[in-house]
Amino acid sequence: AEKSVDNLRAPIICVLGHVDTGKTKMLDTIRRTNVQDGEAGGITQQIGATQVPRDAIVERCKQVREFRAADVKVPGFLIIDTPGHESFANLRSRGSSLCDFAILVVDLMHGLEQQTLESIKLLVKRHTPFVVALNKIDRLHMYESSPRKDVYVHLGTQANNVKLEFKKRYEEVVVQFAEQGLNVCLSNDKKKMADPDYIPMVPTSAYCGDGIGNLMAFIAEMAQSKYSDRLAFIEELDATVMEVKAIPGLGTTIDVILVNGRLKNNDIIVLSGIDGPIVSQIRDLKMPEPLRELRVKSEYRSFKEIQGAQGVKVLAKGMEKALAGLPLYVVNQADEIDLLQAECEAALSKALTSIKKKPEGVYVQASTLGSLEALLEFLKTQKIPYANVNIGPAQLAADREGVRIFQADIIYHLEDDFLKYREELRQ
Ligand code: GDP
Ligand code: MG
Repeated sequence: AEKSVDNLRAPIICVLGHVDTGKTKMLDTIRRTNVQDGEAGGITQQIGATQVPRDAIVERCKQVREFRAADVKVPGFLIIDTPGHESFANLRSRGSSLCDFAILVVDLMHGLEQQTLESIKLLVKRHTPFVVALNKIDRLHMYESSPRKDVYVHLGTQANNVKLEFKKRYEEVVVQFAEQGLNVCLSNDKKKMADPDYIPMVPTSAYCGDGIGNLMAFIAEMAQSKYSDRLAFIEELDATVMEVKAIPGLGTTIDVILVNGRLKNNDIIVLSGIDGPIVSQIRDLKMPEPLRELRVKSEYRSFKEIQGAQGVKVLAKGMEKALAGLPLYVVNQADEIDLLQAECEAALSKALTSIKKKPEGVYVQASTLGSLEALLEFLKTQKIPYANVNIGPAQLAADREGVRIFQADIIYHLEDDFLKYREELRQ
């Protein structure tokens, strides 16, 4: 039986790709803010979720040919901003991804780069459908921007040399994907798109806005035509702690991605902590205004109840030791508490034991599951084996053992510092 599309939740969308391909710029353009300029090294450091309401999608998609914006059935998009693949890795439940779709940003001028390949592997492994944004088309020599037009119609009106350069670069990307065993085509290629093996690509300029409407229209259309089953809202709670943050005046709060079900004020919650499961009570639920992002300082509004899918800041006592990257449960009956605590312990140990270790190697400790995975990914690229892993406050353990800790806001700086230190040791 066909499920109703009347009660769809917002799809959760992650943005992945190599550094500097334009992931942050893409999000800025979608929500028309300017987060990117204020970031350390221009790299996204914090995790945020942006609710893009249906009206904003409709407005942006009006320009897209053959797309009836009025038919948008999803209530919005919940877009996760992502540093590397950390937040994607954090967003999971029972081993599968909570992210419904991903936008894989590729710089048309550079093709597939190292982290693009890592992102592809991750998406394939977790069976996450994705759309490629072929970004920076404005860099084509002599390209003239027109953000208010359908990008395919607009590309057709460009000078011949622009069209030729686009075709040449586009074909290079197609070959690079083929080398990874994947078929890609432009999203307006109806013949190829009829074949489910093809992965769609949309030409974009995150900088100028060109193609963003086409990208959003494509995702909306795909969501409601192919994935309405997955996106039908259900009452069973599915929530993950994305980030644990101390906020002046609010204390330590947790940012939660609520996929399905509801969170209510005064709910008793159970979640994983560094020293074991934490039981607490929701004191307040806060969300920013629509189209603003959780991590941007803005007026939060309080809510008595929130229905998924949403990104929500949960205020509760005792969150200092909460762990990001693991599920949050709500207690419906008092006798459930023990069971849910056991679930928490099982979820954490499952996540840790599923990591393949070598008999000999370094010991890795990180404060969240997502950052642990990002670190392990880095160690793999450096061919550094690891023998054991753990979650918890690394500083305390290091002080006790007299271990030197490298600190940096950006993982690439960490890499540079570590490699320099290793060179020094060898001399
Ligand atoms: P991220 O590391 O993937 O988040 O990349 P950013 O969004 O920080 O962008 C990296 C740089 O590329 C910044 O200087 C952006 O202004 C620039 N950029 C991003 N998108 C575009 C685009 O579509 N066209 C051009 N010309 N530059 C872009
Ligand atoms: Mg960024």
